[in-house]
Amino acid sequence: MFQAGISPRETVSGKLEMIVGPMRSNKTAELLRRIETRREYANQYVLLLKPSADTKAAAGWVESRNRKGTGKMPAVEFPSSDPWSALPILRDTEQQIGKRVECVAIDEGQFVKDLFLFTKRLLDEGHDVMVSGLELDFRGMPFGEMLNLGWLVRTYAGNITELVAYCACGAKALYPQRLVDGKPAPWDSPIIAAGDFYEPRCEAHFVLPGRPH
Ligand SMILES: [Zn+2]
Repeated sequence: MFQAGISPRETVSGKLEMIVGPMRSNKTAELLRRIETRREYANQYVLLLKPSADTKAAAGWVESRNRKGTGKMPAVEFPSSDPWSALPILRDTEQQIGKRVECVAIDEGQFVKDLFLFTKRLLDEGHDVMVSGLELDFRGMPFGEMLNLGWLVRTYAGNITELVAYCACGAKALYPQRLVDGKPAPWDSPIIAAGDFYEPRCEAHFVLPGRPH
């Protein structure tokens, strides 16, 4: 028996698609491909968001590093520290198009503060959400809140697609190796550095000078 005053939810929750993998595993290309598919075949409105800390493309664009891939798409840019500022833009968009935004796509999710709560809010409001990003930083440690999203995939519906990149030795790469002037960056350098260079590396070839453990 339900208690008086408690009624079933009226909004059907969205589903979460995660696209994860190290650098150069074509995460962004895969995200753009899925956006195109939803737009073209499902007639969905997909709002693409990008955090300002993503500097691999010009402001207002999401671009894949893979030159043979889908290329680039215009995106709504928001401050990495405040994804909530994108919510009014979402509302305005729905006003303009006269329907619900079926899907919100977020590139480089590891840079987004409050990613867990922000994604949960979108799902609760009935939007499908697609998030691509790095799970591990250059130290091989959890990057931002990406790993936490696994809980949302299990609790809401959804799936995790793990893309693979390869180390120069041919083994599956697990880590983004940061290089500065061709040399491995030390453990105590900043997590996010502008103009940094990365190479996918396997466990055996991942080098982290000064790591405590
Ligand atoms: Zn290797």
